[in-house]
Amino acid sequence: MTFSFDQARECVIREVQPLGATEQVQLLDADGRILAEPVLADRDYPPFARSARDGFAVRSADLPGTLRVTGEVRAGEVYQGSVGPGEAVEIMTGAPLPAGADQVIMVEHTRREGDRVVIDRPAKPGDNFNPQGVEAKRGAAVLDTGKRLGFAEIALLAMVGRQCVPVYRQPRVAILPTGDEIVEAGVEPKEFQIRNSNAWSLAAQVHRAGGIAEMLPIARDNYESTRELVERGLQSDLLLLSGGVSAGKYDIVERVLADLGAKFFFDRVLIQPGQPLVFGAVNKKFFFGLPGNPASTMVTFEVFARAAIERLSGTEPSLPLLRAKLTREFRHKTGLTRFLPAHLSGDGASITPESWQGSGDIPALSRANAFLMADAERESWAAGDDIRVLLR
Ligand code: AMP
Ligand code: MG
Repeated sequence: MTFSFDQARECVIREVQPLGATEQVQLLDADGRILAEPVLADRDYPPFARSARDGFAVRSADLPGTLRVTGEVRAGEVYQGSVGPGEAVEIMTGAPLPAGADQVIMVEHTRREGDRVVIDRPAKPGDNFNPQGVEAKRGAAVLDTGKRLGFAEIALLAMVGRQCVPVYRQPRVAILPTGDEIVEAGVEPKEFQIRNSNAWSLAAQVHRAGGIAEMLPIARDNYESTRELVERGLQSDLLLLSGGVSAGKYDIVERVLADLGAKFFFDRVLIQPGQPLVFGAVNKKFFFGLPGNPASTMVTFEVFARAAIERLSGTEPSLPLLRAKLTREFRHKTGLTRFLPAHLSGDGASITPESWQGSGDIPALSRANAFLMADAERESWAAGDDIRVLLR
């Protein structure tokens, strides 16, 4: 079954279901984890009408005018008394607004004359303070299930008094390299051998996606070796194979999976690099057969396997494709969606294709900092045209 880029992504997102199991983590371990329950505000936020500025709490009906300063309130205090007509209370950022006041005037907009303050500004009731409960009402959900926790969400958890939080269990992702020519990265290769780099790029990608990488030994290009290791890999929540899915005589990954009763959702996607991409499941355990060329492995992980990990983790898959202006003209043969290593300028405005020698060129991939994404239907782009960008 051959799918377009969009069809393949939709298929992955449709088929893979969340694992659902949860665990508690401390806030220090919560970064990147997926929230498993809504979080509610334990009180109103702000809990009291809170000044946003250093200045004077006043009654807006008195403005403009000269007011008598009757006292002061700092953050961490409550003003005893209220602001009467013709009066002002000096107030600091974060302090509760005294009763009677309905506006704070920034200190920069006032002139002090002894125990009086002169304000030339017109009335703006409600200015420069946050009324109680405007940010969140007590009992309201401030974080929803499925939210990926980052620093702002962790601040919110601390704000509402949480020290630990229920999150979904991280998917365990088995990584299985294949190939008779591949040796482990720590081994001195013979001249016709190459080191296993895909397992390492995949492990880093899995980690970033929120999964736990489980490294398997290299499967040799024979039925027994591949079958034994595929069966081991299927013990994990997701199995990622690299290599062995092209049409070559020794590409036996699909045969092994078929013999294990696999259902194949697709085995070819109209993208480059990464056309011979396999996605399926054995007894509800999903697997990807990622093509072994390093760029193919990296790209197909980013655009398809990452979505599967996000689904397993209980969060919404996302693939932000930005747009940037090409610094030079670009053309390609239509029919395939292409991802090419490219350099995005520091300000994110412009993109330059990286010169490279094809999908085995790891040095070029590491010189680049993004992929440009050429639509399958469009043949050419002039310098200055917008093109989509996949960040990495
Ligand atoms: P395959 O998809 O098995 O036909 O492999 C395609 C190309 O990717 C071949 O040149 C392989 O040598 C290379 N390759 C396959 N697996 C790896 C790996 N784990 N690390 C680095 N290169 C690989
Ligand atoms: Mg191979």
